[in-house]
Amino acid sequence: MLSINEGNVKTRSAATIGPAPWIETEIPGPLSRTVIEQDHAACAPVYQRAYPLAVRRALGTVVEDMDGNRFLDFASGIAVCSTGHCHPKVVHAIQDQAADLIHACGAMFYTQPAAALMVKLARIAPFKNGARVFLSNSGTEAMEGAIKLARKHTGRQWLIAFEGAFHGRTTGALALTCSKAGQKAGFGPLMPMVAHVPYNDIDAIENKLFKQQMLPEEVAAIFVEPIQGEGGYTVADQHFMTRLRSLCDKHRIVLVADEIQTGFGRTGRWWGCQHFGVTPDIIVAAKGIASGMPLGALIAREEVSTWGPRTHGSTYGGSPVPCAAALATIDLLESGFMQNAAIMGERMRQGLQGIADSRKVLRDVRGFGLMIGVDVVSRRTGKLDAARRGKILQECFQRGLILLGCGESAIRIIPPLCINEAQVDVGLKVLDEAIATVI
Ligand code: PLP
Repeated sequence: MLSINEGNVKTRSAATIGPAPWIETEIPGPLSRTVIEQDHAACAPVYQRAYPLAVRRALGTVVEDMDGNRFLDFASGIAVCSTGHCHPKVVHAIQDQAADLIHACGAMFYTQPAAALMVKLARIAPFKNGARVFLSNSGTEAMEGAIKLARKHTGRQWLIAFEGAFHGRTTGALALTCSKAGQKAGFGPLMPMVAHVPYNDIDAIENKLFKQQMLPEEVAAIFVEPIQGEGGYTVADQHFMTRLRSLCDKHRIVLVADEIQTGFGRTGRWWGCQHFGVTPDIIVAAKGIASGMPLGALIAREEVSTWGPRTHGSTYGGSPVPCAAALATIDLLESGFMQNAAIMGERMRQGLQGIADSRKVLRDVRGFGLMIGVDVVSRRTGKLDAARRGKILQECFQRGLILLGCGESAIRIIPPLCINEAQVDVGLKVLDEAIATVI
């Protein structure tokens, strides 16, 4: 039923897929190896793939490789496939929109999907007095927009970000990134006038930066992830977030929340900041926003969005097809998936804590909703254990569970928000079995 040939046109019907995990060949199997070899022949040598997984199709929380092996997905294409893979409503919205209009250029013309989406995003934003939206193709591009808007709005240059942060890989966003040295090595000089201080340490801004490096009235923006993603799923302190807001208010600094990973329902609420009762001035969203179609959004408080005509733009940003996917995504999140993230997240955290208590190699289960991190430690020394983390991830993969690491030795658990109880329990069972083989 998956691929029906109609003359020369290949169409896909609404797919069905068997349960996961289901492993029937060695991994990678012969068909996967063909894809991998082809990729290796031409792909720029910049990636280090997590697994030899060549994906053929996916539905809901299940990913199938070229050889028919099925994996339970606790990674969602790195927190992207929020409504699950190929949700029929998202697929339908994409197909319908593509049949009508694929491109018009939002910087030059108006389209109904982009207009409707921006109105929805402005409504979802937690700002009191209105919001303005700029649509991009990715998270890093939306971050670039936030950098430009904050500088233009304030007329100031300095930008502050936190150690462990990941804000993207274009040279502006990369200057704010501070999670792995290799991400920057050889690419300098990057954007100047960026300073980093330890995450969760507000005193370092006031007592060090403002005394030693710059005056507060020279600072355009502070960029914060409510939960640091690539940095290791480190959760912000309540006190830190509250004081960060006051500090920005006091010095008229723009507070930018990078909600690219924490946003769009993943934490059980629209935005990670809402868990702290803190409202930023700019929210940057991407990843889960369009269930896998490329889209990013910069959502600014009306009063902050003071950049004028022809100051910024994009050829593809806010393209009709990703916007249609985002509108379907919002409907699905509002009609249950966001609430499901909160409920399943609680179940997942409890199950993980059970494994941590019994196996003694997992520590510090943390996060909100279905954005959960846990450290892998040595049973003997209690220290972070990156090598053991690597072995656990590989054992899980061979058993049909996709997980990703982050930070020094953390595992992140970010399944699609449509996951159900049985899938949570099966995934945790596989993780427990994998851990048993490496202790
Ligand atoms: N900011 C955060 C918090 C992210 O997690 C990422 C991607 O992982 C980015 C920015 C960059 O987004 P993109 O890869 O869509 O450019």
